Amino acid sequence: MQKNISVLAGDGIGPEITTATVKVLKSVNQHFNHALTPTVGLVGGDAYDRYGVHLPEETIALAEKSDAILFGAVGGPVNQPDNPRFKNVEKNVILALRQRFDLFANLRPLKILPIAAAASPLKKKIINGLDILIVRELVSGIYFGPRRQYEENGERVAEDTNRYKAGEIERILRVGFKAAAGRRRKATVVDKANVLETSRLWRSVTEAVKKDFSEVAVEYMYIDNAAMQLVRAPANFDVIITENMFGDILSDLGGAVVGSIGLLPSASLNGRNFGLYEPIHGSAPDIAGKNIANPTAQIFSLALMLRHTFGLEREAEAVEKAVSAAWAKGLKTKDLAAPGEPWLGTKEFGQAVADLI
Ligand code: NAD
Repeated sequence: MQKNISVLAGDGIGPEITTATVKVLKSVNQHFNHALTPTVGLVGGDAYDRYGVHLPEETIALAEKSDAILFGAVGGPVNQPDNPRFKNVEKNVILALRQRFDLFANLRPLKILPIAAAASPLKKKIINGLDILIVRELVSGIYFGPRRQYEENGERVAEDTNRYKAGEIERILRVGFKAAAGRRRKATVVDKANVLETSRLWRSVTEAVKKDFSEVAVEYMYIDNAAMQLVRAPANFDVIITENMFGDILSDLGGAVVGSIGLLPSASLNGRNFGLYEPIHGSAPDIAGKNIANPTAQIFSLALMLRHTFGLEREAEAVEKAVSAAWAKGLKTKDLAAPGEPWLGTKEFGQAVADLI
């Protein structure tokens, strides 16, 4: 297969984890005889230094010509909010790319990996068998609705508007139900239909769309109960489908439930299977440039790209199995090593995974 991938490494540990992941990509090309060609583009602080903006036209043009984006992370040290290199960088880059490419479907798979099971704050018997896919609507809802602050009778008032069109709900439901059909065939639509009008519209659209996916068992759950169940009985979920803000909160809660932040990938897709693939963690400025970051979340993001944009399931599994094989051989990065245990650098771990494809 011949495809183009734009590689936007960004700030902090972004370049290190991305370089390690590109090694794995090259190994996939070699072993499966593909030409999935990575081309590097600038975003974040380096783009600002060179072009005076965080997301230059050159980078947008590169992304437009490509079939998928492999994204690292953007952002500077959290205690430097006014540093112009990083001011509003997430909004300028990530939100802009989501809108530019209409990346409405955010997929976040959550699994218990043996290596990280001890990092979960929950008891072993509760997380046993946990394998969830959170499907979050990403470009509408309360984060994008009209907002304002004003004065009323001498008091300050603020409003954010939660707004959904039926078509926006339908397309995310279809992504979620399709994914459920290929998994354990259960979908939980999370809402607050006892209070919110938007949730009532979600339910009525769900009732219509689910007819096209008769093999999937669809249930509804209120967001407050879903948060509780994600902690009490997470293994009962298969696919969770929900609106932007509820999905934002549930995916971070789910991330904490499965443990290490360095392991979790995500995909943001549009209706043409074009996607932006990135780890859920940030740019980790505290460990940047030290060759100690864990590139696994980024390597797993590559696996998601192979699966969802290119339809290369065998290759995606080869990448995921190579990571497990590295762990099985006792190869791991610093964040997963017990005190005194030997560990590999970012680069070396990436090379080990590439060699195990
Ligand atoms: P963070 O995820 O960057 O780091 C949180 C903690 O986890 C840090 O201690 C870090 O060292 C550790 N960590 C993160 N990734 C790791 C990895 N791969 N291997 C080992 N350890 C890892 O979150 P933060 O510190 O709150 O944010 C840092 C910067 O990243 C901020 O500027 C923030 O705005 C930005 N950010 C960007 C994105 C994105 O680009 N999508 C997402 C979240 C945060």
